[in-house]
Formats: sequence, C-alpha cells, structure tokens
Amino acid sequence: MRNVHDNILSCVGDTPIVRLGNLARGLKSNVYAKCEMLNPGGSVKDRIALQIIDDAVAAGELHPGATIVEGTSGNTGAGLAMVAALRGYRTTFVMPDKQSEEKRAALRAYGARVVVTPTAVEPEDERSYYSVSTRLGGEAGAYFANQYHNPSNPKAHYLATGPEIWEQMDGKIDVFVGGLGTGGTITGVGKYLKEQNPDIKIIGVDPVGSLYYDYFHTGELTDAATYVLEGIGEDFLPSTIDFSFIDDVVRVNDKECFQMTRRVVREEGIFCGGSSGAAVAGALKWIRLNDAEGKNVLILLPDSGSRYLSKIFNDAWMREGGFLEPEVGFGSVRDLVHARGDRELIAVEPSDRVTAVVGTMKLHGISQVPVVENGRLRGILTDTSLLERALRVGGGNAAVAELIQANYTTVDLDTEISVLVELFRRVKAAFILDGQRPVGIITKIDLIDYISSLTGAGES
Ligand code: PMP
Repeated sequence: MRNVHDNILSCVGDTPIVRLGNLARGLKSNVYAKCEMLNPGGSVKDRIALQIIDDAVAAGELHPGATIVEGTSGNTGAGLAMVAALRGYRTTFVMPDKQSEEKRAALRAYGARVVVTPTAVEPEDERSYYSVSTRLGGEAGAYFANQYHNPSNPKAHYLATGPEIWEQMDGKIDVFVGGLGTGGTITGVGKYLKEQNPDIKIIGVDPVGSLYYDYFHTGELTDAATYVLEGIGEDFLPSTIDFSFIDDVVRVNDKECFQMTRRVVREEGIFCGGSSGAAVAGALKWIRLNDAEGKNVLILLPDSGSRYLSKIFNDAWMREGGFLEPEVGFGSVRDLVHARGDRELIAVEPSDRVTAVVGTMKLHGISQVPVVENGRLRGILTDTSLLERALRVGGGNAAVAELIQANYTTVDLDTEISVLVELFRRVKAAFILDGQRPVGIITKIDLIDYISSLTGAGES
C-alpha cells in the first residue's frame, strides 16, 4: 500500500513546494511557495498543534479527558481540534469577532466550543481574547495551549518545517519569506535554515497596524491599531518570536494583501487565504529591491481560501472595504522627500529639560519632535504632552524622558505612499530611518501637501 496512513495525524507536514511562474514573471529570482493549506486541518498550524499536545503529554501537563483551551484566529484551533478528536480531549476556543464565520463553523465541526470576544479592546482588557483564553485555560481540568508563549510552537517548525524545506530545496534556498503572527513559523524555520547556511535571508511580512515593523527597525514598541487582515500582525510581543533570526521586515496594507490573494488563486491556481496573499505581496516587494539572477526565494502560504469565501472572495465585502479600487500610484517616500526637499531633522535627547525642548520647538516652528538616544529613535514628544507637564509645578525643569510617546511609526525611502496614508490613520508622524538612525520626519501636512500637489486638489 502506498500513502496509506493509520490515522490523519501522520498526514501533517510534507507539503509540496510549487513555483510561482506567473506572478514572478519578469523577475530574475525564482519564486516558490510552500503550500501549507494542504495540511489535513487546512493550515500550517497543524504542525504546532501536534507538537504542543505531544510536549504537554510528555511533560505531564495534559491528562486524558482534559479540555484544551486556546485563543486562536482559527487555524491553531482546527489543528488542536483535529488532534483532540483522535486523542480524546475536549476543546474550547476563544476567537476575536473579526474572524470569519467559516473559521468558527470549522472548529464547531470538530466538536469544539467557540467563545467569541470583541476585537476592538486592548489586550489587557478582561474581555480581550488574550484575557478570556488565559482565564478559561486556568480553570480546573483545562490545558492552555498558549501558542503565543509556548516554546513547542517555534520548536515544531525548527524540528519539522525547517528540515523539510532544506531537504525539498536541496539546500538551494537563498531567501525565506513568511508572515509574522506568533512568529513561531519564522523563528523555527529561520533558526534551522540559518544553522545550515547563515547566509540565507529570513524576511518577515507585517500588516499596517501591527507593531512588528517598527519594533524590528527601532527596538521600540509603537501604538498598534486594528486592521482587517487575519492571521498575522500583533499588538503585543509574543515570546515565540525571536528577531535574531529575522533579517528584514516588509510592511503590507490590507488592500494589497487581499488583491494579491485573489491573484495567487487566479494566476497560480493556488487557493490560499489572506495571510498567503500578504506573504506573496511582501515577498514580491522585497524581491523587487533585491532581485538577482538565480536567487531562490521560498514563500510560506499558511492557509486555504476556503476560510475566506464570505470576505476576500466576496466582491460586495471587498467593495465595502474599498479593497477593490486600483492602487493610485503616488510613488514612495523617496518621491515625497524629493518633492518637498530634504530637511534637517531636529531631534532632542531623553535627558533634555522641558523648557529647553519647548524653546527648540518654538525656534523651528514644530509641534512634535523625535527623541533620539545614541543615534537610536526612542519615541516622540508632542506640544500637548509638553504643555501638560509645563503646567505642573517645576514642570519646566523635568527631563522629557517621561513624556515620550509611542504615537509614531517608521518608514524607509521605499515605503509606498499608499501604505503611508494608512499609517497616518493611527499616528501623528512617520520617521524615515537609515538603518536604526532617524534621518527625517513626515507629518500629516507633508503628506496632504504632496498628494494635493499631484492630484491638483486645492487648485481652483
Ligand atoms: N497566517 C494565518 C492564517 C495564521 O493563522 C497564522 C497564525 N496566527 C499565521 C499566518 C502566522 O504564523 P505564525 O503564528 O507562525 O507567525
């Protein structure tokens, strides 16, 4: 008998790699996709589900008849529910309400209980899906799978996904690209591949609104915001991500992810979900800047399009979100800077006094200023926060360190204006980085000025 299994669990992994011939047309690099939607539970998360449960049993933390609890965007739930179905555990899953109904239905199909929580609350809020899953996971008879902090998550990819990729590609892989959710995939795969060949580049893809991009480039946590894409991006730092294995982080917006998801299905015939579109969109952006003859790039596609039929593959839903409109070519930050002219970046230090900083801002006529320490960006100061401090007794003499805010983001010269526009829905300013060093600032008015000069808005 060939390819006959004792049960479904040994069908996890060993997924095919497929060349993206159409989408990569015109590029010198060879672009490949690892089709993780072909795992039996429908996603890459089957791999961590098995590892988490095996490790928990081995550690004596998971007993027969226990309930496995998890906060999940759906895929980890499907994986855990599949393993639980065979091993006799019960499952309870906590899901944010932005997740698609198909994902909930898929979990219930395995016999799971699904608890839905609001998306638009802080992680610390007692209603958040992190809080609710932690609480339910702490109850008697429960085992909390905890994919955001469970070392079995990156371990699954270090022990299986990484070696599988290395072997499939005959070691001829130059770049690995994956979305950043828990970071488990990229951390485990990245660690394994770099151990085989330290020159392999590991590229993470992050949606606008998530904090990974800024954190990777500055080491600081900026304010997060909501976005529509499911499965990748976070508003806190999970312990399952290790940035030391990541060489670069590329940022994508909802619209380009969804449009690319549709293209992967139509042009390559691979029925994938939104985070796969995100990974491909991010990978193609990165390759355009780093293209080279014969370079082998592998993109991991985490899940299937079947979970997004009522969203990404539904024209009404896409139109409502403004995701069907063609991207207007306003160019990149480089074009904006060129049009506006280079400006010297005025910056202050954390130890500077409130009065001195107010003086600097007045002198230059600016209402926000970056705080830089040893050439590294620490955050932003706004006239509002300075005013509040100055009003207090002795306020003028205080160091500005305690007034530093996280209401900013970082970009580079290649960041598209379309991405910048979305970023400005949540932040007051964007700093242009050269490595870790901020070299320029873009404010909302700069962006309005630039766009209206291109569209002729404001001219009568
Ligand atoms: N895509 C989808 C659809 C997912 O559910 C996840 C996991 N949240 C990811 C991508 C990201 O994978 P990881 O958590 O390993 O970073």
